[in-house]
Amino acid sequence: MLVYVLILISGLLCSTLPLAPKKAYHRPALSILKSVGKSHQEFVNSLKHQIFCNVELNGDAIEAIGFDMDYTLAQYNTEFDLLAYEGAKKKLCEALGYPEDILKFKYNKDAFRRGLIIDKNRGNILKIDRHKYVRKVYHGLSHELTTDERKKTYGQQVASFTESNYVNIDTLFLLIDAILFAQLVDYRDKNEALIDKTYEQLYKDVRTCVDLCHRDGVIKDTVISNPAKYIIYDPNIVPMIQKMKSSGKIVFLLTNSLWEYTNVVMNYLVHGGIDSKTGEYKYNKDITEWESLFNITVVGACKPSFLTDEYLSMFKVDKDGSLHNIEDKDALNLNALNVNRRVYQGGYWQDLHRMMGIKSGDRILYVGDHMYADILRSKRTLGWRTCLIIPELEHEISIAVNYTAMSQEIIKLRQIQYDLDEYIDLLRSRDRMGLEVKSQLKDAEAKAIELKTTIRAKNDFYSAKFNTFWGQLFKAGYQDSRFSKQVTDYACLYTSKASNLHRVSVKRSFRPIADFMPHEFLENSRNLGLF
Ligand SMILES: [Mg+2]
Repeated sequence: MLVYVLILISGLLCSTLPLAPKKAYHRPALSILKSVGKSHQEFVNSLKHQIFCNVELNGDAIEAIGFDMDYTLAQYNTEFDLLAYEGAKKKLCEALGYPEDILKFKYNKDAFRRGLIIDKNRGNILKIDRHKYVRKVYHGLSHELTTDERKKTYGQQVASFTESNYVNIDTLFLLIDAILFAQLVDYRDKNEALIDKTYEQLYKDVRTCVDLCHRDGVIKDTVISNPAKYIIYDPNIVPMIQKMKSSGKIVFLLTNSLWEYTNVVMNYLVHGGIDSKTGEYKYNKDITEWESLFNITVVGACKPSFLTDEYLSMFKVDKDGSLHNIEDKDALNLNALNVNRRVYQGGYWQDLHRMMGIKSGDRILYVGDHMYADILRSKRTLGWRTCLIIPELEHEISIAVNYTAMSQEIIKLRQIQYDLDEYIDLLRSRDRMGLEVKSQLKDAEAKAIELKTTIRAKNDFYSAKFNTFWGQLFKAGYQDSRFSKQVTDYACLYTSKASNLHRVSVKRSFRPIADFMPHEFLENSRNLGLF
């Protein structure tokens, strides 16, 4: 027993055992260090607006900076989500004959998160870890699969989750599909009305109806009529772009939205600040046309096809939205004197590179929110440097900072658990040798079960602070989530909103300090004073 107690104490006080492999240790940025002495809230705010680095990036080597628009320059509020959600419900009833009961469904913006996967065949939504093991599953929204159910359904098989029966929630737009699909799955399970429809058909219908809302004006026309109601105005966007241009960078807009919608959203982002006293728009007198902010604007880009399909045509766009063929693409370069307005639709990445006179993809930094179309594809195909916008980061950081004590307690308990497992292993070996340790072994095993239950309860409580259904965005169990792995693998930089780039110089070099394997983390953690 003495050995056991000693081990427990040593586990509490000085264990250096790694709990999970750490990819990198990021030294706190200078702005964070400077924030020492500031209030707690000022510290949290500083952290929320940091730009985090996975891959070294030298700002001086970047010649052009490009931006996506939707959910990158333009952040939308819950009112915007409701346009698609309510619009799709209505279309399900009116166009596809769904029962009117579904009009009573209520939107829950916290029900799903990016990085999750929809299993269309089974009516499930999954969270997987960085090794592609399924860690959490909900059938619909009302039933979380038990561990046995989860293992029986998804087993130990590591699927790619890229097959046609899975949908990766790579963009905030798809959260509408996820909630509506889950609610319909629950409804179908309890009602006869939809019994003839498979889960897959339910998803297909949801996708069709949400897509229709984007195409037929239910969303677009409503936002155009009152952008202030749906778009979150960010006063730092214009000065950020102006700073980039005045520092000699080429700045371009590359969006999948078409001209009419892009024109309204960008006009609002440039001129749309509401004066709190008068309630009127604050017109930015320094800018007569938002287009002048960008060297090149490409609307209707059809990403990711823009990055992969060389046969897509590029057109010139007039102010009224009319399209014109481009006879001589070579005449589009930025030095061509006869081109005074550079707004285009569609095309292929080579057209853009040619216009900017950039031959190598690593001279371009692209800022976007879509994990696949903006980040993964552009980096893999063209070698563009990437900055992923993760608005969820502000919430994640805020909760993590506020519940640090709880997190530390779980870490300590897991260290004790590791030591206890080692002690039980030792007792079992002595038991096999015929030594009289049966009673100690029984006690230790009972303690291990008790400890496991305690840790699970504490971890569930901690995770629910981030999200009641899915826990932390960047974690699946104690491992990094698949979302976290994609961020690490494909985003050179990541931050909560695009205008955080305004906080740094365009010449800024970003560096991750180091990558650590688990054994290196063990060596370095003691030296760095982490344990
Ligand atoms: Mg976007």
